Amino acid sequence: MGTSSGSNINHQHMSKMLPPRQQQQQQPGSLQTSLSLISLDPHTSPNAQEPRFNLDNIHESPSESASSRETWPTADAITAKKMVNGKTENDCTEQSVIRRVSNADKITLRDIARERVDVISEKMHHLPDEFLDELKNQLKTILEGNGGSQNREEFLILQKLVQSRSDLTAKTLIRAYRAQLEILVAINMGIQAFLHPNISLSQTSLIEVFVYKRCRNIACQSQLPADDCSCEICANRNGFCNLCMCVICNKFDFEVNTCRWIGCDFCSHWTHTDCAIRDGQICMGPSAKSGTGPTEMLFHCRACNRTSELLGWVKDVFQHCVPAWDREALMRELDFVSRIFRGSDDPRGKKLFLKCEDLLEKLRGGLAESMAGRSILMFFQGTEWANYLSCKLSMKVL
Ligand SMILES: [Zn+2]
Ligand SMILES: [Zn+2]
Ligand SMILES: [Zn+2]
Ligand SMILES: [Zn+2]
Repeated sequence: MGTSSGSNINHQHMSKMLPPRQQQQQQPGSLQTSLSLISLDPHTSPNAQEPRFNLDNIHESPSESASSRETWPTADAITAKKMVNGKTENDCTEQSVIRRVSNADKITLRDIARERVDVISEKMHHLPDEFLDELKNQLKTILEGNGGSQNREEFLILQKLVQSRSDLTAKTLIRAYRAQLEILVAINMGIQAFLHPNISLSQTSLIEVFVYKRCRNIACQSQLPADDCSCEICANRNGFCNLCMCVICNKFDFEVNTCRWIGCDFCSHWTHTDCAIRDGQICMGPSAKSGTGPTEMLFHCRACNRTSELLGWVKDVFQHCVPAWDREALMRELDFVSRIFRGSDDPRGKKLFLKCEDLLEKLRGGLAESMAGRSILMFFQGTEWANYLSCKLSMKVL
């Protein structure tokens, strides 16, 4: 990974090592907090991410759904409930507003998904905000998927309607009503955060997200292709963002300070460690820097087809992040490293693998995480490592 060694280590270290740029561009505090809570959920590991609402794998993952779900504040959920139940006695104001909308004027999510932009926009113009909020809440409920297969089916119908249209372009969407646009983007991306009242992207940004000119990750929102990258993946994969998404699975998440993501030393694109292991992108090979000499465990980047070394990267991540990890995080990270280096043939990789396995076993047996953290850091600082790494450093500086 990009930060493993070299003269630029201090300068670029944190931003390159700590993946997806979400952290610098994180939206309001509540979002950050709740999103980082999600990252602790073991079910968000890429292996567990079976597309829930995907038609074509481009769209969002359950982890993204889950993350966006968590962005709804409690107060909002209460409002949502009120709107859905709208019939409660003590909620006269809202009810009377909704009642004033005649059946002929009412529109549904399916109407929005299938009817012309200007037609719906015109209708929405005359509908009270409360009615539009209710529509958004309906879609939010569908995207949350708590209603099981019924929600899933309805979502797939809506998404198919939206994605089969050729009239939804940057040009026509300029005429969309704000709520209409939010709903269309949320359906197309399968991400409910676009409906969140506190996340107000400009009309232009929403349109750009819809037409894949802007990253759908609300915490990133980079113009696409990010960094004007012209690699095959950035050029051809709709909606792919090299700053926050995995080259293999296209998904993003909110994990930082972790070995969960590997960045390419050469093109800086990111890959989930799990995806790389699963797809055989991590294997033994001649040193990434010299291309000759003894073999070591390497990461093969699918975006640029070059290889990056892994030992120095893992060491960097641990040295910077061990103090911040709790017990669960430390065990998870040791497990990543163990799985990365499991197939090592070289002595250093083998030793690291065995060290991780040993510490994991001891942690399971009750060893304090502070002791385990110290032990792995001492391991990395060992003489053998120091020699090895200083050798690599000088190579890169040259
Ligand atoms: Zn690229
Ligand atoms: Zn992005
Ligand atoms: Zn992935
Ligand atoms: Zn690369």
